[in-house]
Order: sequence, then structure tokens, then C-alpha cells
Amino acid sequence: MKTLITNGAIINADETLAGDVLIDGEKIAAVGAAIPKSGVDRVIDAAGKLIMPGGIDVHTHLEMPVGDIASSDDFFTGHRAAAFGGTTTHLDFANQAHGQTLRDTINAWHSRANPKAVIDYGYHITVVDGNDAVLAEIAELKSMGVNTVKMLMAYKGRVMVDDETLFKVMQKCAEQDLLVMTHCENGDAIYTLQNQALAAGHTEPIWHALTRPALLEAEATNRAIKLAEVAGCRLYVVHVTNAGSLEAIALSRAKGNTKLNAETCIQYFFFTKDDLKRPNFEGAKWICSPPFREASDPPALWAGVAKGDLDIVSTDHCPWLMEHRLRGLRNFMDIPNGVPSIEHRMTLLWHFGVGEGRITPQRFVQLTAANPAKLFGIPQKGRIAPGLDADVLVWDPNAENVISAKTHKMRVDYDCWEGTVTRGKPAQVLRRGELLVDGDAWLGVAGSGQYLRRA
Ligand code: MN
Ligand code: MN
Repeated sequence: MKTLITNGAIINADETLAGDVLIDGEKIAAVGAAIPKSGVDRVIDAAGKLIMPGGIDVHTHLEMPVGDIASSDDFFTGHRAAAFGGTTTHLDFANQAHGQTLRDTINAWHSRANPKAVIDYGYHITVVDGNDAVLAEIAELKSMGVNTVKMLMAYKGRVMVDDETLFKVMQKCAEQDLLVMTHCENGDAIYTLQNQALAAGHTEPIWHALTRPALLEAEATNRAIKLAEVAGCRLYVVHVTNAGSLEAIALSRAKGNTKLNAETCIQYFFFTKDDLKRPNFEGAKWICSPPFREASDPPALWAGVAKGDLDIVSTDHCPWLMEHRLRGLRNFMDIPNGVPSIEHRMTLLWHFGVGEGRITPQRFVQLTAANPAKLFGIPQKGRIAPGLDADVLVWDPNAENVISAKTHKMRVDYDCWEGTVTRGKPAQVLRRGELLVDGDAWLGVAGSGQYLRRA
């Protein structure tokens, strides 16, 4: 199957050029001016449109089990929603349960993902135990196609690691040249503030934000950076939400730390802790960790992505149905955390980033596809170039989209951006040469997405 995309403006991380893109099977075969149509099976006219690499979302939680429920998008519905929004690859977190081997953890994720996948996918392993058996197993991760290890410095008593485990795993990852990812919040201090709030009778969603202040994220971010420097490992700080954390990252990089990278997630550009104050537990929809911050933080994050202190915009997509969000509700601690956003990352970043003049189209490609490919070991993706996977977006910069839970593809019964109008969305989405989305039509097939073994 040969597809020719003609007359578009091709946008890569470092160049913009007019030309055609020839796709042969799963790969991009040629990029250039006036490629002949002979022998081509399908022609897509991209006049007036842009041709960009498919998005890579490096932070998602699909069908993530918590107790007897799971996040509501599985590896089919989540992939379909991602593809409609222009994302053709994602990396999910395979979360170790206490006592579980890393291999069993990854196999549990495979069993959910393999039959349903439509876009291509890989995993980070989330380590919760720091015993010798787990440390030894870290040396085998590359043979399982996993080159990233995540740890949480929060959620005390559940999945938090202490500094001893954090540091030992960092040392092991330095030895194995694995990238360490950290959720940076001071879990001990948060635990104390939560217990004090509950004892004082505070139940409302806003207390989720009030018991997780930004300074505790900044402190943990700084701590992770320093521990990683001592351990000698590469570090990627996930979901940076505020100016203080960004300062810690920018300072370390300014001093020459070249082993430090960081992301923010699309929702942190839009909301503040005031959204948690909406009445009748409506604020529960805006509960995620770290929480939304002050009105001064989103502009700081925009400056961070424009300047380069933040390398990637991901989602931390973790959807929960309202019946699960409000089930057995006694207080803010009972509400599952997470914002549904896998579908909206690219369209929101395009409209409010490129459309409103905060970032260039090339920076958009860097943040959504090229940097994820580079930092996470996916060299076959993230660029429109011969020999690479044909993950291609034909992007219509003028197409309007009205966000609504009634029309979005995510399997969740509300939308934090309900009513928001954006301009710019994919007209066609190809994953390894296969047309997944054509206008409003869905053509993807469950099971066609491939597991990415990353090196
Ligand atoms: Mn997190
Ligand atoms: Mn997460």
C-alpha cells in the first residue's frame, strides 16, 4: 500500500518545508517536491494543511487498577480517543504492586494492552519496592523493552518510596543507563497535612489542593534533582505544575546539569485551585495530583515550554467515571485522582500555544513528538523523514472543534474543557501508514497497535 500526501507544509522540530510525503507500507519512503503519483494507491491532498509527526504522549494511565475499579479508558477506547486528537504513540505506567516482580507487572500490562491496542505503545515501570530482588530485576528491564523507571515521592503508605529506596534505585538505573522518572511531592508532609485537615472536619475537594501545597512539590523536585546528581542517573521530572518547581529545574540546568529533563501536562496550563471550589462536589472533576495551583502558575509554565526549561507536554490521562469519583464519598481523600485529557493535548496546545502566539509550530512538534521520541528511546518516530515510521498527521489549522462530553471519544462522562472552542485539528491520522482517522470516521482496528521495545 502506497500513500502520497501532496501539497502540504511539512513541519519537523527543526524545519518547515513545502512538499509531498510518500508512504510505502509502514514507513515514510520519500519526502520532497512533486513526487510522482504513478504506482500510488491513495492520494491525500493536503493543500492548506500541515503535515506533522504523530503525537507521542509519554504519561498515561489506561485501565489502571485501583482497588476494585480501574481508570475508565481501556487500551482501545483510550487509543481511539488519542488518535482522534492526533496522538499515535503513548507510554503507559506499568505499576508494580507490593511484592510483585517487575516481569509480572509488565506481563499484566501486556495482557490488557495487546488485544486492544490501536496506536503504538510502551511502558515505564513504576517501582514501589526497593528490596534486593527488585534491584536485581532492574538489570533485566531492557530485555523486556523498558528503559524508564518511575518512582513516587508521595502517596505515603500506598506507593510512596522513601529516600533510601529512591536513591538505591537511582544508583541502579545509573549503572544500567535507565532514565529515572519522579513524581515529586513531599509525601510525609502531605500525609501530616491531610490528617490534620480530616481531624479538623474538612471534607470538600478544595482540601485536596490545600493539603498539597506547591512548596512541597518544589522541595521534592529539588531533592530528586540533587539525589539524581549524586547517583549519576538521568532524571525526568513528571507533571511540573508551578513556578517554584520550574525554578529548581531551570537553576540546575543553568548550572550545567545535562541529565535533567521535565514535562508539564496540558491541564496545568488551564486550571487553578479555584476550580476545586465548585459547589456540590463538582470540584471533584478537577482533582488530580499534584493539584492545580495559583493563577500565576500557568503563565510560568507557558514561559517554561517556550524557553525550553520544560521539554515535553504530556497528559497524565487518568479518567474516572463520575460514579467512581463520587462512590462512597466521605471526604476529598476518597476521590480517585486524575484528569481525562489524552484526546485534547494536541488540539489545546495548538490553539492556545501556536494559535495564541506562545509557541511556534516547530516548538509544538518538539513538545508533542520529537522530544518524546528522543528522550524515551523511540528513534523510529517523532519526525517526518524517509525510513521512519509513517505516523503522520494531516493537520487542518482552520478546523474548529467544540469540546464536549457529548462528542468526545474518551470513555468518561464529563469533560473539564466542556464548551471550549479550539481551531486546528487532524483531518487524517496515519499510524505506520494505516489510516486510523479520516475526518470524523474511525478506521482503526483493535490489536493493530504494536508494543515498542525501547533501547
Ligand atoms: Mn503522578
Ligand atoms: Mn501519572
